[in-house]
Amino acid sequence: MKNTILGLHHITAIAGNAQKNFDFYTRVLGLRLIKKTVNFDDPKTYHLYYGDEAGSPGTILTFFPWDGITAGRRGTRQATEIGYSVPAGSLAFWQDRLDKNNVIYNKPAKKFGEEYLTFLDPDGLKFELTVSKDKDDRQPWVTEEITAEHAIRGFHHVTITTNKIDKTAEVLTAAFGYRLEEQEVNRSRFITDAVDVAAIVDLVEAPGETAGHVAGGSVHHVAFRVQDEETLMYFRDKIVAMGLTITEKIDRNYFYSLYFREPGGVLFEIATDNPGFSVDEKVAELGTALKLPAQYESSRAEIESILPKLN
Ligand code: ZN
Repeated sequence: MKNTILGLHHITAIAGNAQKNFDFYTRVLGLRLIKKTVNFDDPKTYHLYYGDEAGSPGTILTFFPWDGITAGRRGTRQATEIGYSVPAGSLAFWQDRLDKNNVIYNKPAKKFGEEYLTFLDPDGLKFELTVSKDKDDRQPWVTEEITAEHAIRGFHHVTITTNKIDKTAEVLTAAFGYRLEEQEVNRSRFITDAVDVAAIVDLVEAPGETAGHVAGGSVHHVAFRVQDEETLMYFRDKIVAMGLTITEKIDRNYFYSLYFREPGGVLFEIATDNPGFSVDEKVAELGTALKLPAQYESSRAEIESILPKLN
């Protein structure tokens, strides 16, 4: 779909210890490590990507793990929750699984007519497992312990908290083609009809709350999905026309990106479907080898000696 935002592409967050992060996302949550690379702006740090089998846009959660980083603080000017879609009837399984793995969670609750379970990852990053009222036909990555009956499908929504939501809402509606679907207390649910899944952004208005601090256990940025580079540049013009500052096109090896800070204070990215995660690894082998962008290949030995081994 040309000139359309296709929901969420990926969400990137900050973690502490890389091994802990790897264990939690692959073993406890049962996601697939689909790419093991480095932070292109800090190549002595991993950039770990988790998603479905192929790393489909709308399923990809990525981390920069910095061992010993100070904990962030949730607040305004932040993406404060990541919502994953799970099948109907799976919340009891997840509650039991979180319990057994000593994960901090709340008993299931309901909003917008959907049941959800809130939990924190080992660094305090906040999640919701939501049973979507809309159909979610995505094929999940499955493990021995987490079958298709329970497995995470990919993103359901992301929540952004600001003192005043109007300017963020304007980016979503006027630039990105989202519409306000529902409101409950101080939460406004925006949705795009361009895609069936990973289509929701919730904006929470918290007028008195202080700004959060982005560090360990916080979302670093939220990336929205476009089909190709031509569409990417179409949106660049739109954001510039709104008077916002946006980067030039950046090659991230697996997608092309633009970054801008939305008026509510959250770093937004727009990212393309092309070329995708199989550009340097077969789908069957995704995440098994350390992949470096061309500019760091000559420093591979040094980088490998610094990065902690994951097992
Ligand atoms: Zn990104």
